[in-house]
Amino acid sequence: MARWVSFEVLSKVDASAKGDFLQCQNCKKIIFSADFELGQRVCPYCNHHHRISARTRIEWTFDPGSFLEADLELSSVDTLGFPGYQAKLDQLREKGELADSVVTGTARLEGRPVSVGAADFSFIGGSMGSVNGEKITRALERAVDSRMPAILFCTSGGARMQEGILSLMQMAKTTAAVERCRANGVPYIAVFTDPTMAGVLASYASVADVILAEPKALVGFAGLRVSKQAGVGKVPDDFQTAEFVHAHGMVDKIVARKDLRRTLSGLVATLGGHLASTDSAEPIGGEA
Ligand SMILES: [Zn+2]
Repeated sequence: MARWVSFEVLSKVDASAKGDFLQCQNCKKIIFSADFELGQRVCPYCNHHHRISARTRIEWTFDPGSFLEADLELSSVDTLGFPGYQAKLDQLREKGELADSVVTGTARLEGRPVSVGAADFSFIGGSMGSVNGEKITRALERAVDSRMPAILFCTSGGARMQEGILSLMQMAKTTAAVERCRANGVPYIAVFTDPTMAGVLASYASVADVILAEPKALVGFAGLRVSKQAGVGKVPDDFQTAEFVHAHGMVDKIVARKDLRRTLSGLVATLGGHLASTDSAEPIGGEA
């Protein structure tokens, strides 16, 4: 439990920030930072699931030390000469944490090999440009080639507008890769995290065999303002939440972050039992 003493209150939830207390971005209550981390950055008061990085997601979900990152050499280029895009890419890469908005590779989940991808909202809103689409496609193809289930964690504002039509083409490419999984009997599980929107929702995210979502994740195509402009009229209070799309049949199950590893493991064992061995001595396939 948080200690209710006067301390420096940080307005931004950031595990690396100095200070012992953080403020929930939703209910604004103060959380003891150690409790916040122990609770996987979920508010103990309002259950708000704060956004986490792709690497943290992978670390918390898969077997310790089992992740082998792939396609590290891929990075976006400003093909269309979009104003400010190259400078933005350079600025983000200087931080050295991410080459683009998705991290992919192979890992194990309770011993079972899986092909994984996790988007990262901190890199241009997790947007899907050419590199993001290529890495997602390769992750799905790696699952087919090495006969292992694919798990993709989605978080994105949609297609990357700075790459124009090249970005929109990724919608078709990634969806075709999902179809190759289906044709080869390889299960693909998508997890909608906050937010899963627009071009990503309208492509590889929504055509998974099983779709899970974190509580209250924003899930939709056009944003609320655009929907109103389109004459949708009055929208329900829970419009475009994981709970709303679950109630309307788009999501199979809402799963709290603390239960995701167990749920995914059960799905991988059930749907992927006919695939690669759980033998830990056996190397995971692919180019990871
Ligand atoms: Zn809260």
